[in-house]
Amino acid sequence: MENLAVTVAYIGETKGKGLLASRDIKAGEVIMQERPIVCCQFSWNAAYNYLACDYCMRSLESTEDNVRRLTCKADLVLPFPECCPTSKDRQTKCPACGIQYCSEDCKQEAWKRYHMTLCTGTQGQNPSHPLVVLNEAWKQMHYPPETTSIILLARIIAMVRQAEDKAAVVNTFMQFCHRTVNEEQEIAHKLLGDQFSGQLEVLRELTSKAVYSDEVQHWLTPQGFQSLIALVGTNGQGVGTSPLAQWVNNVSNLELSPDQRKAIDLFIDGVYEELENVAGGFLDAEGSGLYVLQSACNHDCEPNAEQTFPLGDSTLVLKAKRDISQGEEICVSYLDECALSRSRHSRSKILKENYLFICHCNKCLSQAGDDSETSEDEDLSEDD
Ligand SMILES: [Zn+2]
Ligand SMILES: [Zn+2]
Ligand SMILES: [Zn+2]
Repeated sequence: MENLAVTVAYIGETKGKGLLASRDIKAGEVIMQERPIVCCQFSWNAAYNYLACDYCMRSLESTEDNVRRLTCKADLVLPFPECCPTSKDRQTKCPACGIQYCSEDCKQEAWKRYHMTLCTGTQGQNPSHPLVVLNEAWKQMHYPPETTSIILLARIIAMVRQAEDKAAVVNTFMQFCHRTVNEEQEIAHKLLGDQFSGQLEVLRELTSKAVYSDEVQHWLTPQGFQSLIALVGTNGQGVGTSPLAQWVNNVSNLELSPDQRKAIDLFIDGVYEELENVAGGFLDAEGSGLYVLQSACNHDCEPNAEQTFPLGDSTLVLKAKRDISQGEEICVSYLDECALSRSRHSRSKILKENYLFICHCNKCLSQAGDDSETSEDEDLSEDD
């Protein structure tokens, strides 16, 4: 991380830690860049063939293959193939289990950090392997849209098992907030509600079978397991990678005549329209990661910064959405565009259940007490 434009500071009693701008930042500028301590593709996303590197989440598909799959058009031809970011000749596999990586470096890092513990050792899926059983149980409990992954949790445990300095790795994870309830506000995480207690117990037993070791037994008690679920649930930052987004960006940097530019812009609009019709909003390889600095960044319903993944892997690049002055708090939205456009009531419900806090941003304060904001239909539709 170079030229860091942020410092972590104590913001106040309700918010705790936050990120402050350590200098003036212009709209569109990169505020910071950070790689995750650990990340993982979502289980259903992987099951639906969004093929990604098992370590860094870089898509393994060429842009053309990606667009063909998502539009269901096997003969679609993409112009400017030189703008495709995917280099298939660098891709490699774990020789034991066949899991795929974008590069030899990713394969080696994964093995060193957690894959030695988590390698199933057989090519193709062995349905009786404890990790496969755990992942399948998770998938049956958590249908898309996905927000976190039990495999992320298994990787955390495996990282401790494989670390030389185990206490240091445990400490790294414990610096993330891992409370299961917000006592002052009496909010419990949605994954830890009474209705899920049976499921949690099943997941705890299956996780113990898959990755138990003495050093992490405190995380495999009922209470320890809950705090680990809360840790990945409240701190997991959504990651999305797409070879198409990178191709579009590379094409936009080409020197083209006005006519060529017009033609390619029309073509790209057509592709996105087609994608919207066939694949809906699901264009990316999606997953979740833990980022030390980013996890200190608070939510605001009118954020001045946004998380982006322009490098095509899980490297997070925080960008300013508008000019930010030195000393100002930097905030992002924990909600996606769609959720962010909903009423204060709806936003508040999602934030409470997933992140255990009540939002007091300017937008929420200005909308408080505004009864006309919530329609009956909206209330009904969100309780399913
Ligand atoms: Zn990779
Ligand atoms: Zn393997
Ligand atoms: Zn708000």
